[in-house]
Amino acid sequence: MKKLVLITAVFLSVLACKKTPFTNRTQLNFMGNNTIFPQSFAAYNQFLTAHEIAKDANKQAMVERVGQRIAAAAQRYFEANGQKDYLKDYKWEYHLVKDEQINAFCMPGGKIVVYTGILPITETEEGLAVVMGHEVSHALLNHGAERMSMGTIQQIGQVGVALATANGTPKQQQMWMTAYGLGSQIGVMLPFSRRDESEADEVGLRLMAIAGYNPDEGAKLWKRMAAMNKGQKPPEMMSTHPSDQTRIAKLTAYAPKAKEEAKKYGIYFNN
Ligand SMILES: [Zn+2]
Repeated sequence: MKKLVLITAVFLSVLACKKTPFTNRTQLNFMGNNTIFPQSFAAYNQFLTAHEIAKDANKQAMVERVGQRIAAAAQRYFEANGQKDYLKDYKWEYHLVKDEQINAFCMPGGKIVVYTGILPITETEEGLAVVMGHEVSHALLNHGAERMSMGTIQQIGQVGVALATANGTPKQQQMWMTAYGLGSQIGVMLPFSRRDESEADEVGLRLMAIAGYNPDEGAKLWKRMAAMNKGQKPPEMMSTHPSDQTRIAKLTAYAPKAKEEAKKYGIYFNN
């Protein structure tokens, strides 16, 4: 039984490895779009019924414009990289929701929500493109599916640990479970999420640049965000986000590469 659990975990891991677009990273993912998208679309509709859509037509139009330009940039990228069907199951939708939270998200399959609360920080259309580029990147990189796949493997692993310690005293078993649970949280799950954030930052800059938005805005936006965050920041090790300093430094370093890539699509920036 112990062996069977281990074999199942290894087998699933090997079977389920895919390459991420843009970053070409090997990724654990055994959740297909056809499993995830219908659930995502239903959840999005539910969310929209339960929340108030913002009435400001100009701002809603801006959210739609940025979303469409980012989606078009993604399509251009996939066509140029031999994956023209990558987005075929996507059903892009962009809504501005009246809510004071400083937040935005893109659900699997291209279902986007921007909260009105983030607009004072994004300030301009370019600032909004940083946020939406980042959120769309999480979806394109299948970060949700990857986390769910990781979670499944982690659960199988825990069953394995429980079986392996079945002969120990209850106290020993408890210690093992605690150690395994904490270790896998801090050692695997959280760094994956932090890496997801960095990866989405990078791909977000590339997408916004291909869409014609200046990627220099990335670092500027996160500086404004950091100023909002002062005083209530968890230490980087325990946080699911890279620290502001790290994030700003990486975004600054990456912007010239994003501009360089955009040239391939006929997009040139002045600086
Ligand atoms: Zn993110």
